[in-house]
Amino acid sequence: MDFSLSESDRAFRESVRGFAARHLAAGALERAHDPRFPWDVARHMALAGLFGVMLPEADGGAGGSLFLAVLAMQEIALACPRSADVFQAGNFGAFRTLAEYATPAQKERFFAPLLKGEKIAAVAMTEPDAGSAVTDLKTTATPDGTGYRLNGSKIFTTNTEDASVFLVYCRFGPGTAGIGSVLVEPGMQGFRLGNPSRYLNGERWCALYFDNVFIPAGLVLLKEGGFQKQIAGFNVERVGNATRALALGEYCFRAAKAHAGTRRQFGRPLMEFQGLQWKFAEMRVALDAAELLLYRAAVRAADGLPDPQDVAMAKFACNQAGWLAANESMQVMGGTGYSQELLVEYCLRKIRGWMIAGGSLEMMKNRIAEGIFGRSFPQRPPDRPR
Ligand SMILES: Cc1cc2nc3c(=O)[nH]c(=O)nc-3n(C[C@H](O)[C@H](O)[C@H](O)COP(=O)(O)OP(=O)(O)OC[C@H]3O[C@@H](n4cnc5c(N)ncnc54)[C@H](O)[C@@H]3O)c2cc1C
Repeated sequence: MDFSLSESDRAFRESVRGFAARHLAAGALERAHDPRFPWDVARHMALAGLFGVMLPEADGGAGGSLFLAVLAMQEIALACPRSADVFQAGNFGAFRTLAEYATPAQKERFFAPLLKGEKIAAVAMTEPDAGSAVTDLKTTATPDGTGYRLNGSKIFTTNTEDASVFLVYCRFGPGTAGIGSVLVEPGMQGFRLGNPSRYLNGERWCALYFDNVFIPAGLVLLKEGGFQKQIAGFNVERVGNATRALALGEYCFRAAKAHAGTRRQFGRPLMEFQGLQWKFAEMRVALDAAELLLYRAAVRAADGLPDPQDVAMAKFACNQAGWLAANESMQVMGGTGYSQELLVEYCLRKIRGWMIAGGSLEMMKNRIAEGIFGRSFPQRPPDRPR
């Protein structure tokens, strides 16, 4: 087994590192505390060809692998944690699901502005009564003439206020088999946003309300029976979640290491206290182990869509390792780590959200257990199957 990067992978990583140092490192602190989407970063990335890294060249992408996208995201996050969300929007998330399943007409309409960094897409799956149990979603698309009427609501959609297209999970019929998705744009009649709420990570989200919104047939992404495909696309989003959690943990680790080398108490540098050395040892082991699981998930995604079990293990490990590293780094750095003059506290708040978003830690463990025992474990009461 060869753990070294190929020449071309290393060259790509170096080029992204250079880009991040030139365009992203300055202003990282201000960006982290601005709740809105950093469009300046999106435009820089688009110009540098960092949007659509995994997209086929025929669709305007770079034709790269999931592994290359992971390497790029790590470099970006280490220079500017907030900018990693921009890379996510232009490569993973709704973008990737669209890339996989959109019709040629949908690609033509939506991809050009997404690839130029002028617009972003958002995923709207969660509802007030359908979180982890996402297949309980109630938003319906019912046939009406040449299209459908969309009714229902969504919560927790990342980038709500900045998105120009929403990939909305909805129900064309009963049960999991009835779930598909449609594309909704701001300004469509009957579609409105609720008042902004704020997450612990500083970002804002608004509820989405669909009141008899007409969806022309051309804006249906996947009809009934599309749920498994959507989740296959969503597994790529989970890799983006895992990569950012890991990279932000690494960011904190490096900040704490530098701090422990220079900060002196009791007449000696902090790094000479064994109680802190052991924290570094535990963080290093957790981060490296999680990175191996992440790389395995990415490298084995031969057709671009990773194995769900690989992803569940990688996300669980990266969320946990990132959290451990951010939390222990903050402890090592004392009041300096807890203060908003540095990004450690920001990274901690971001990672905390990813332990819930994109499939919580508990849901990842449920999935891992299913893989271990080779069978499904329905979570619903026997009288309420889906
Ligand atoms: C930062 C952030 C960004 C998000 N972005 C988006 C987005 O862009 N689009 C979108 O649609 N949604 C988004 N979400 C919503 C996210 O997907 C949900 O929060 C998540 O699926 C959990 O659902 P819930 O919050 O309703 O919690 P619940 O499902 O109510 O779960 C509550 C707790 O119970 C646990 N639990 C539930 N069921 C089980 C079970 N069977 N076994 C063991 N434990 C269980 C959960 O793990 C959790 O700890 C985001 C959330 C966060 C925090």
